Amino acid sequence: MTSNIRYMSDVKGLKDIDVDGKRVLIRVDFNVPVDSHNNISDDRRIRLALPTINYCIDHNASSIVLVTHFGRPKGTFHEKYSLINIRKRLERLLERKVEFIEDLEKARDEISTSSSQNIFLLENIRFHEGEKQNDKELSKKLASLCDVYVNDAFGTSHREHASTYGITEFVDTKVAGFLMMREIEAFSKALEDPVRPIALVIGGAKISSKITLLETVLQKVDKLIIGGAMSNTFLKALGYDMKNSLYEEDFVKTAADVLQEAKKAGVKVYLPVDLVTTDSIEKPIDVKIVPAQDILEGYMAVDIGPATLKLFSQAVELSNTIIWNGPMGIYEIDKFSKGTFKLASAIADCYAYTIVGGGDTADAVDKCKEADNFSFISTGGGASLELLEGKILPGFKNLDRVDQ
Ligand code: ADP
Ligand code: MG
Repeated sequence: MTSNIRYMSDVKGLKDIDVDGKRVLIRVDFNVPVDSHNNISDDRRIRLALPTINYCIDHNASSIVLVTHFGRPKGTFHEKYSLINIRKRLERLLERKVEFIEDLEKARDEISTSSSQNIFLLENIRFHEGEKQNDKELSKKLASLCDVYVNDAFGTSHREHASTYGITEFVDTKVAGFLMMREIEAFSKALEDPVRPIALVIGGAKISSKITLLETVLQKVDKLIIGGAMSNTFLKALGYDMKNSLYEEDFVKTAADVLQEAKKAGVKVYLPVDLVTTDSIEKPIDVKIVPAQDILEGYMAVDIGPATLKLFSQAVELSNTIIWNGPMGIYEIDKFSKGTFKLASAIADCYAYTIVGGGDTADAVDKCKEADNFSFISTGGGASLELLEGKILPGFKNLDRVDQ
């Protein structure tokens, strides 16, 4: 039986088709982080789309239209979410002029009247209500702008939106871009043919959305290393009093089930033995390292402690494939970042295939300057989680297949 991940790796890529003289539409993911002044704080997502854009330029596509979302504008125009700054950054990176299409209604004419090869950036697609609703009319409108559709928006590939999914119904030739291909290959290596033992390090705060993943992933991994707020729910399931720590009461039972299932499946589970705790996140005056069983009244767990760091580091060291999703603590605050940053270094030092998924985890790895020491850092948080769960991502579903 073909696994879902193999099914996705069998989609056609740009190299399987001819773009010469064709109008190409590329769904990119330029949903970049910005600071409080709306400056782009990290343009990695734009840079990672360049191979696909450049390939289309070099192979003489007649026009290239780039479509992306940015932020959460909720279906209407919002100046804050305009792509004006993104266009400027893109022009700098491509060293070429990029035409801006503000009005989708005029897009078709603008594209067809241009004589030389032009690159167009369409204004934020989420200014249209129909995008998230996977609206047929919007999908058709986008499809009318191209002969070839390229999906290179891995970070959004778990969504069934007009520009990531609906459009495929109305375009004859539809393929994956280089970034999509790289992502699927990286996860395929970790999940299809992993060199064992394989460890999944899981943390962060999205407990409800990640805990179900653990139930499905147990059959695939040898070790489960749990930290961050995620581990609070598990420690609670062990009967510990977590006091003011962030955990999800509704999922304590699920956590207990996961522990049981892990035992049955022979998966080794590692939980924090000590924790960094504080009485206040905003004004951490009193920070105490305590055994996981001994959190004081009024305190909360905000990072893994030094003994846990040692335990987790040794557990990953003995693994040959390591998948990491979710920070070990509130890494955004200096005092609570040690567990995450030091574990990042420990994983980076391993002689293993190391892969990072999750927006905050990727950010943490970047902040502690270990990004280059990982085998692969995914651009998709939600999308990479769904891959781990073994789902077929909608962004891959309707693309042309090599076996067709
Ligand atoms: P990712 O984006 O990598 O998937 P999540 O979004 O699930 O990760 O979680 C990241 C967030 O989890 C961070 O903002 C971090 O501050 C928070 N976090 C981690 N550990 C704790 C904790 N013990 N208590 C509260 N928040 C935590
Ligand atoms: Mg996150």
